[in-house]
Amino acid sequence: MSLSFDLPCALPALYRGRFAPTPSGPLHLGSLSTALASWLHAQQHGGQWWIRIDDLDSERCRPEHSERILKQLAAHGLRADGVVYQSQRLHLYEAAFQRLPTYPCTCTRAEVLAESIHGAYSGRCRQQPRRAGTPAWRLALPDQTVGFEDGVLGKQTQRLHGDPILKRRDGIYGYHLVCAVDEIEMNISHVWRGEDLLDSSFVQQHLITLLGGTVPQYGHLPLLYDGARKLSKQNRAPAIEESHALQNLYQCRPDLPANLPKGFATVTDVLHCLCAKG
Ligand SMILES: [Zn+2]
Repeated sequence: MSLSFDLPCALPALYRGRFAPTPSGPLHLGSLSTALASWLHAQQHGGQWWIRIDDLDSERCRPEHSERILKQLAAHGLRADGVVYQSQRLHLYEAAFQRLPTYPCTCTRAEVLAESIHGAYSGRCRQQPRRAGTPAWRLALPDQTVGFEDGVLGKQTQRLHGDPILKRRDGIYGYHLVCAVDEIEMNISHVWRGEDLLDSSFVQQHLITLLGGTVPQYGHLPLLYDGARKLSKQNRAPAIEESHALQNLYQCRPDLPANLPKGFATVTDVLHCLCAKG
C-alpha cells in the first residue's frame, strides 16, 4: 500500500494521528489493521498517536469494551500518547453546535425514507413550519461540490448533500459533529480510517472549515475481508485475542517480509520492521 503524505511541504509542524474506536464491542482484525496503519505512520513521522473512545451512545457502548480495546491495542504494541473519551467532552460539542447553521427536523424515519433523494435526506424541514414534538437538528449544507487529496485514493470530490443530523432527538450529538470538533480540539493532523468512511469525510471537512479549524490530511484504507465479507462488527467479525498478537499483526500486514523468523519474532520486532519499511 502506498501512503503518499511524504512530501516535506505536506507535513505540518506537529504530526498527531488518532484512532477512534466505538466501544460497542472489542476490536476485530479490520479495526486493528486501521489502528496499526495510523500508528505506524505517526511513528515514521516522529509524531504522536492518540486514542479517542467514541462512547457517546450509552445504550451501545460499555466501559468494559473500552477497557478491553485499550488492552487489545497495548498487547499489539500500539501504545498511545493519550486517551480521550467523547462522553467527557459534551461541553465542546454543544459549544460548536450552537455556532453552526442548523434547523429542526421532526420527520419520522418513514418520512425521511419516503422523500429521500438517492438515499439522502431531502431537506424537507428547511422550508416547512416547525411541527410539534422534539426535533433532531440538521446541518444546512450549501449546494456545493467539495474535494480533497486522499493519502491513499488520490483526488476525491463530492457534492454535499443530505443535511446530516448534528444532534439527535435524544440529545446525542451526531457522528459528523463530534468527529469534526475532536479533530480541531485535539489538533489532529492526519486521519487514517477505513474506506467505508470516505463519504463522511466530505461533510466533516466542511464542518471543520465552518468552525474555523485546520482540515487534517485524510487517508482511507482498504478494508480487510474474510472471503467476500467485510470484517466489521455488523458482520460479527470475531474479537482479536491479545494472546495471538503476533499472528494478528501478520494477518493485518501480509506484506511483511518472509525472512522475519516467525516462530521467534516478538510484537516489538514486527513493529520495528514495519516502521523501517516506510
Ligand atoms: Zn425533516
